[in-house]
Amino acid sequence: MKKIIIAIDGFSSCGKSTMAKSLARSIGYLYFDSGAMYRAVSLFCLQQGLFADGSIDVEALRARMDEIKIAFEADPVTKNSVTLLNGVNVEKEIRSLEVSRIVSKVAALDFVRADMIEQQRRMGQAKGIVMDGRDIGTTVFPDAEMKIFVTASAEVRAQRRYDEIIARGDSADYAEILENVQQRDHIDQTREVSPLRKADDALLLDNSNMTRAEQEQWLIERFKEITNG
Ligand code: C5P
Repeated sequence: MKKIIIAIDGFSSCGKSTMAKSLARSIGYLYFDSGAMYRAVSLFCLQQGLFADGSIDVEALRARMDEIKIAFEADPVTKNSVTLLNGVNVEKEIRSLEVSRIVSKVAALDFVRADMIEQQRRMGQAKGIVMDGRDIGTTVFPDAEMKIFVTASAEVRAQRRYDEIIARGDSADYAEILENVQQRDHIDQTREVSPLRKADDALLLDNSNMTRAEQEQWLIERFKEITNG
């Protein structure tokens, strides 16, 4: 069967990556988390002291972009995709609130986006991929054969993120997470380069009141319709 590109975009913490991973596994496609790439660049800024007093040292980051090598590999035990920053597994570090607080600012920089988009397009050259993010269907792969735009209320999304952190055994503050979700929504939707928006030809999925199984079923049905049609 001819392979396609599947773009799953939407708001922060609406379960995009869980559903994208599960869809990729069911249909034998590769999964790519584009948000993890922006998170890895943000972690680089924190590690290298390029973020201080609430702002990024933009010129220093621009000059050092070629020192940032991002890759994905399968964890040998869980088989889940993990993110490597310059060869080091940073999967846990990139999910910290510290990174979440600055990632939307880093992702709004035009030269960061240009670099990530080029890498993302390379990942999709052979098709057969599911990629999730904010601008995959609008900018990275405007010709993707299947585009989904996922949304849910900010409160539902903050609760999900809170439950995830608690389940990992870490501590979390719901109000702080809700504030972060709302702040990222705002920056993502209002930035000049590739703002978060639904592509005209994307299918809308509001999963506020859907179980994980229902979402997976819905996606598989759409995939079958698109690939048989
Ligand atoms: O998907 P995730 O929440 O991990 O993404 C982290 C941040 O990276 C988002 O809040 C957004 O600012 C940025 N991002 C982006 N474009 C993408 C993926 C993520 O701007 N394609």
